[in-house]
Amino acid sequence: MEEMTGNFIHEFIDGDIAPGGQYAGMTVHTRFPPEPNGYLHIGHAKAIYVDFGTAAKYGGVCNLRMDDTNPSKEDVEYVDAIQEDIHWLGYDWDDRFHYASDYFEDMYNYAVELIKKGLAYVCELTPEQTKEMRGAVGVPAQSPYRDRPIEESLDLFARMRAGEFENGKMTLRAKIDLASGNFNMRDPVIYRINHAPHHRTGDKWCIYPMYDFAHPIEDAMEGITHSLCTLEFEDHRPLYDWVVANCSVPSKPRQIEFARLGINYTVMSKRKLRRLVEEGRVSGWDDPRMPTLCGLRRRGYTPESIRAFSERNGVSKTDSTVEFSFLEHCLREDLNERAERVMAVLNPVKLTVTNYPEGKSETFTVENNPNSPADGTHEITFSKHLFVERDDFLEEPVPKYKRLFPNGPECRLKGAYLVTCTGCVKDEAGNVTEILCEFAPDSAGGDPQDGRKVKGATLHWVDAATAVDAEVRVYDNLFSDADPDAGDKDFIDCLNPDSLKVLTGCKLEKRLEAASFPQSFQFMRVGYFCVDNRDSAPGHLVFNRSVALKDSFKK
Ligand code: ATP
Ligand code: MG
Repeated sequence: MEEMTGNFIHEFIDGDIAPGGQYAGMTVHTRFPPEPNGYLHIGHAKAIYVDFGTAAKYGGVCNLRMDDTNPSKEDVEYVDAIQEDIHWLGYDWDDRFHYASDYFEDMYNYAVELIKKGLAYVCELTPEQTKEMRGAVGVPAQSPYRDRPIEESLDLFARMRAGEFENGKMTLRAKIDLASGNFNMRDPVIYRINHAPHHRTGDKWCIYPMYDFAHPIEDAMEGITHSLCTLEFEDHRPLYDWVVANCSVPSKPRQIEFARLGINYTVMSKRKLRRLVEEGRVSGWDDPRMPTLCGLRRRGYTPESIRAFSERNGVSKTDSTVEFSFLEHCLREDLNERAERVMAVLNPVKLTVTNYPEGKSETFTVENNPNSPADGTHEITFSKHLFVERDDFLEEPVPKYKRLFPNGPECRLKGAYLVTCTGCVKDEAGNVTEILCEFAPDSAGGDPQDGRKVKGATLHWVDAATAVDAEVRVYDNLFSDADPDAGDKDFIDCLNPDSLKVLTGCKLEKRLEAASFPQSFQFMRVGYFCVDNRDSAPGHLVFNRSVALKDSFKK
């Protein structure tokens, strides 16, 4: 795999592992800690790239850890899907797969240690009271239970665990600094009561650790050296360091924050993506319009294109929004190298070659990819009856129109023959039902023997005698608003009503009958497509447009 370009995180690590550095002589050890409460999205792909890519760069290792400390929203369905998606992206954790819930007993013991040291206490304020008493800038928080005797806190904390109290009745708070300018240090809650079954520990626990307490312990238990996370945790770092310093954990990890990835015309929080699924706004987590990794995969995105996107966006300390069209640009660049060129007519109209014998059939050989001769060739058939795009014909040409119109220029049917349009057939309503052409017998393969200049365009087509029918799904942005998250509007109101167009009766080159996911194809002059891995079946082919051919990304 490609080596990650250097960034500010690597400068910190260089210092840490240099002689005299805090991790001199140690293996760089990172982790990716998703919460299994939804499917991974393209933002997670950036974190995966940073976590696994950084470890690889230093010859180190990266753990995969399910951060399952919140029982209410988690599910094993997500645990499996997360692993599948990371493998698909091209990363592996070997046997370094962990669950935060495996450390619940350790966390409990560290909490007891804090109480015994006089660094934590059981508080009986309700969540509302805690909020009211948290103070303000320059005004310290109040905490009436702060000086409760250690023995009393130990007893109450044990009874919290034993299930004696209802949700919200009590919490365990770290005793740090009620006047701190950093509100996260104003005696933060580190345990709360939640009588909810957990997907792995069942009913064993009814108290659960808060993220800020749990995460540094998880990192330390696993010997993580560098705990890489997104910028919103920057203000939590003093608390992370406090936990590491005051609990007798087996190692001392370091937290480093980097900017989150945002992309326009989409939303990127699992909670919002779940809402789209639950309200039926999309067909599922893997709807090809979703920014989830399973959605992008179904759409035809390759792992290489997503890694290139992550690499080229860089890693910095400033949040920014990347254009969706840049993601598309990265896909197009990758598919241009690897996709097989074929012909498919999405909006077909019949074309009859009037001077070609009825019943005759010829075979032509075309390149699979002009950028890659090693990809070989394949055969296409030609006969008197073809299909072309309705858009490639005009009865009355507009100025500079170089495609088919009566008595127009010679046009090239890609890889086959030159043809000249002689007229068309219309139905009673005046719709064109058939285009009439004559072919030039001296142009087999598409080039005239006398070397004359071809004035018309090169068109794609398919042979009606062998064509296969397909449904083609053409996607646009899921949202019509570039920033559906901004302001206090509901992002659901920003959905693009035209984000999916279903075209039926499309005519595809015969070869595509045997196409299978995840192979990508370039439908010449149209775009990149792949078989839909859920809905396509023999006799009912379904293709997804991965990306249009034309690049709208401005470099
Ligand atoms: P979401 O709001 O989508 O649920 P999250 O941060 O709560 O995101 P987690 O499952 O906790 O999701 O995330 C696992 C890791 O992925 C975290 O380290 C988090 O910082 C990182 N991550 C999540 N979203 C992004 C993003 N948009 N860009 C970069 N990293 C991200
Ligand atoms: Mg989260």
